[in-house]
Amino acid sequence: MKFGSKLIHNGNEIDKATGALSIPIYQTSTYHQADIDNGQEYDYSRSVNPTRKALENTIAKLENGDKGFALASGMAAIASVLAIFSAKDHVIICEDVYGGTYRISSKFFNRFDVEITFVNAADLEEITKNIKKNTKALFLESPSNPLLKITDLQACADIAREHNLLLILDNTFMSPYLQRPLDLGFDIVVHSATKFIGGHSDVVGGLIVVKGNELAKRVYAVQNGFGAILGPQDSWLLLRGLKTLKVRLDYQQRNAQKLAEWLDNHEKIETVYYPGLPSHPGRDIHFRQADGAGAVLSFKTKETQMAAQFMKKVKLAAVAVSLGGVETIVSYPVKMSHAAIPKEERERLGITDNLIRVSLGLEDIEDLIEDFNNALK
Ligand SMILES: *Cc1c(COP(=O)(O)O)cnc(C)c1O
Repeated sequence: MKFGSKLIHNGNEIDKATGALSIPIYQTSTYHQADIDNGQEYDYSRSVNPTRKALENTIAKLENGDKGFALASGMAAIASVLAIFSAKDHVIICEDVYGGTYRISSKFFNRFDVEITFVNAADLEEITKNIKKNTKALFLESPSNPLLKITDLQACADIAREHNLLLILDNTFMSPYLQRPLDLGFDIVVHSATKFIGGHSDVVGGLIVVKGNELAKRVYAVQNGFGAILGPQDSWLLLRGLKTLKVRLDYQQRNAQKLAEWLDNHEKIETVYYPGLPSHPGRDIHFRQADGAGAVLSFKTKETQMAAQFMKKVKLAAVAVSLGGVETIVSYPVKMSHAAIPKEERERLGITDNLIRVSLGLEDIEDLIEDFNNALK
């Protein structure tokens, strides 16, 4: 089956108990155990819940993985993955990783002696140079946030295989529709399901998919032990959001392509960062490993102070953090998502005061372009 059909028919869409076409919200903490001598699958909702399980099985199918896990947020998912490592283990993470991932790895897991090195993953030599005896994993993001830098995932998979490393990808920007890292040789995929998977800016959630039984056991021990599980209501919202993932992204991606091209030709714009543009330096690598350019882009204005003014003048697009919703969202990284990074380090990463990020929604592109045009004027 192709991906769109799989979103609707993946074996988890019908409630086994009733035949309901929408998985019921099993709002229960515990279950009657009819026969206490023989265990039963459902015993307590931190361990297992039918609504959450339907979501977990669905995301596992969509990512072509063996086991899925639903957590309370994207960060809960990422933290739960990092929590499979032990003191003295070394993990290499790309330097332009999501801010929250940077924060927990440098300010939390380091207290438990998990050793972290941040590298520029676009430079494969820098990855191999930093591999040590105790290196256990490589944690990557592609495209990166907010500059849409591309990492060669296949090449990283080769490096990981050679050095026996676990390979982890934060696939939030692409979703399983556009990029399936497990097919490329990755072991673990994480998502902030708050973004494209939920898709409506109405739920915070996280997902993990792993390959193999042994990894599934390690991650389940953290999910059940830490207990940062996703509740049944929010699991249901993600199941509902997933059904329209393809139609939303197809439309949002078309909007992104059109806006990127329009911005690219605008006299007041310095650079547009979008893998769908021929000028994007990572374009060829990206389209080898993904089926589309996605619905997030960023751009830099020629005049620095214009970016902050644009944020005040834009009317139709929402000014907010987050992305992947039905509404177009513009954000100003230096004041929002990346405000905590010291200015010097930000500038080194290219996150300058004239940078704006856009997540395209489902509005008509003509209205968005008019809004952007007015704001730039
Ligand atoms: C938003 C985001 C996260 C964090 O997810 P939450 O659901 O906000 O906890 C992680 N990675 C990326 C790439 C994100 O965009």
